[in-house]
Amino acid sequence: MSILKAVINAFRKTPDTVKYPYGPLVIPKGFRGAIVIDTEKCSGCGLCVRDCPAAGLELIKESRQDYQLIHYPARCAYCGQCEDSCARGAISHSNDLVEPTYDSDEWVVVLKHQSGD
Ligand code: SF4
Ligand code: SF4
Repeated sequence: MSILKAVINAFRKTPDTVKYPYGPLVIPKGFRGAIVIDTEKCSGCGLCVRDCPAAGLELIKESRQDYQLIHYPARCAYCGQCEDSCARGAISHSNDLVEPTYDSDEWVVVLKHQSGD
């Protein structure tokens, strides 16, 4: 292809990049966003905690009926392993973007607080 033809083609083409922030943000299929939980499905088994490669989850367990499943978003690698590990389909990624923080050590999300009371 001649240089002139390549230049003309380049002018005719639509942009290869997205127009964000001037156009709508399109979340791609399979995007791994913020971690969410279905508290009805979670049994507090701890498999997600065991398999998390980034210490992004913690299970504080007093008994079968008293436990908290905690997520640390600033440690999380958004790898999807917890979703794969959960046999009950309780924990998953949403399409929501994760907000930035200046206080990563204090950023703690209680995904489930089960109390036997
Ligand atoms: S989210 Fe799933 S793997 Fe994690 S503690 Fe609950 S049931 Fe177990
Ligand atoms: S997405 Fe990955 S890093 Fe984040 S909590 Fe789940 S297993 Fe851990």
